[in-house]
Formats: sequence, structure tokens, C-alpha cells
Amino acid sequence: MSDDSLQCFFMGTGTSTGLPLAPCLTLSSDLPADVADIKTNGKRSNPLPGQYDPNGLWPKNVSCGSCRAAVDKDVPEGYKNKRGNTSMVIRKKIRGKWFNIVLDVGKTFRENANRYFPVWGVQTIDAVILTHGRMSPILRLVWWLTIDADAFFGMDDLREWCIRQKCSIPVYLNRPTYNTVAGAFPYMVDKSQASGGGDV
Ligand SMILES: [Zn+2]
Repeated sequence: MSDDSLQCFFMGTGTSTGLPLAPCLTLSSDLPADVADIKTNGKRSNPLPGQYDPNGLWPKNVSCGSCRAAVDKDVPEGYKNKRGNTSMVIRKKIRGKWFNIVLDVGKTFRENANRYFPVWGVQTIDAVILTHGRMSPILRLVWWLTIDADAFFGMDDLREWCIRQKCSIPVYLNRPTYNTVAGAFPYMVDKSQASGGGDV
């Protein structure tokens, strides 16, 4: 790949919740029935080989195959099941400088950035694109229950980038997504509601 190619890096590649999930690791309750078939070494979708032993020592007794694989050192490459919200960095070198666009900043953005940006050499965030806010208009009155958090709940963690870069970061999004973000982060769209240092 030449140095001036358009490059794309994937982050998270997981669900809106991320993995592993604490209720699985703490054996708090059984999985919902519709996903329960992945909890043992069942034939359909146990993601990685490994032993499930209900009477074994933790984490062998974690019934959820996905979460067990994420923490069980005996599961080959199980660490790959430590996943965050799906996101992407798109970058291009222009006149010797990398420009980075981040596609979606979900609630795991901060840990994803800490994990991958040093490896990839991402030193700036020059723009953000949000693909969705996903809030049901019917349920807008209870928006905190209906927001899909995987695309923008990490917006607040852009503050540090704004401070270091000494400028705001342009965010591109459609009107429904804007309305959702404005409800969740009013200080990002109205400076009168900022308590300081929050420009994005
Ligand atoms: Zn789980």
C-alpha cells in the first residue's frame, strides 16, 4: 500500500453493548432464550473452541461462549472477542500530513482509541461522521431508553482532542441524527450550555 493511499482501519467491530458483558462474566443470569444457543459448545454459533464447564473454575463456568472466549486464556485468540462499538478511521496523507476522519464515536470510542490509535499512529481527528442516532420518534419522550448508543455516545471524549488541537472538530451528520445528539449533548450545539472546554 503506497503512502498516499486512502486507508481504512476498523475499530470495535462488535455490538452496541460491546463484549464481554459483565452479567455474563459474573454469572448473574442466563442469556435471553433467543441467544442462549451460543452459550455452550452448541453446534450453531459458539464462536471459538473452548471448554464450558458449569462446575469448573471461572471462567470455564461462564456459560456465554462469546464472553468466556474473551477472557479465557485457554481459548485460542479468544482475546479477539473483546469488542467495542463498530467504528472506522479513514485517513489520507495530503502534503505529508495524515488527515483522519472517524466514522462513528460510540460509547467505547475512548477505549478503542487508546487501544488502536497509538498502533496506527493516529495523532489527529480532523472530522467525524455520524451514521445514525436511531431514536424512535414515538418514544422520544423516553429517549434515554431508545437511543442506540453505538454511534455517538463517545462524543464527549472528543473534548480532549479539541483541546490538544486547539480547534473544533467538524461533525457531519443528518438532521435526525443531529436532533438526537443535541438532546444527549446540549452543550455541543449551544455554547451557552457549555461549562467550559467542551467545544466540538
Ligand atoms: Zn456474554
